[in-house]
Amino acid sequence: MSETSNYFSSSDGHFCDVENCRIRTSLKLHTFGRRFYSCRYWSPDDDRACKFFRWLDTSICCTRGAAVAPIVIAKFNRLEHAVEVANEESKQAHALTAAALERERVAKRKFERAKVARMISEDKAKKLTIALVVLGVMFLVLLILSTRFGEVKIRQMCLP
Ligand SMILES: [Zn+2]
Repeated sequence: MSETSNYFSSSDGHFCDVENCRIRTSLKLHTFGRRFYSCRYWSPDDDRACKFFRWLDTSICCTRGAAVAPIVIAKFNRLEHAVEVANEESKQAHALTAAALERERVAKRKFERAKVARMISEDKAKKLTIALVVLGVMFLVLLILSTRFGEVKIRQMCLP
């Protein structure tokens, strides 16, 4: 193991060399189809990932491959763009869904508050009705009593 074939990654603390790397194929325009060794922890989207890298092939093996590479890359780029557009549309759809769910939650809360307010109002109305009935009954009882006592008084007054 030569010194130049080792790569120490300070981000995750592992040693890399050709033996524990993966063989990948380049999809870039000027190196299209060339194979290379790179760290198994390598990621194109992560700058902190291990950068161990070494070409396996010395050059693109055939002229046909070199001619086809731009066509394949153009298609690859179109597909990547389509994926980006689809992801953006998906994000927008998620945002719309989240907004709709929030509106639904607010509406449900308002509905629950209105339901509670209606129950309180109905309860008050029942209590007022009962109070009115009780007052009415008391009034009638008082009226009857006052009428009877009034009759008694009148009778008593009529007696000699
Ligand atoms: Zn590595």
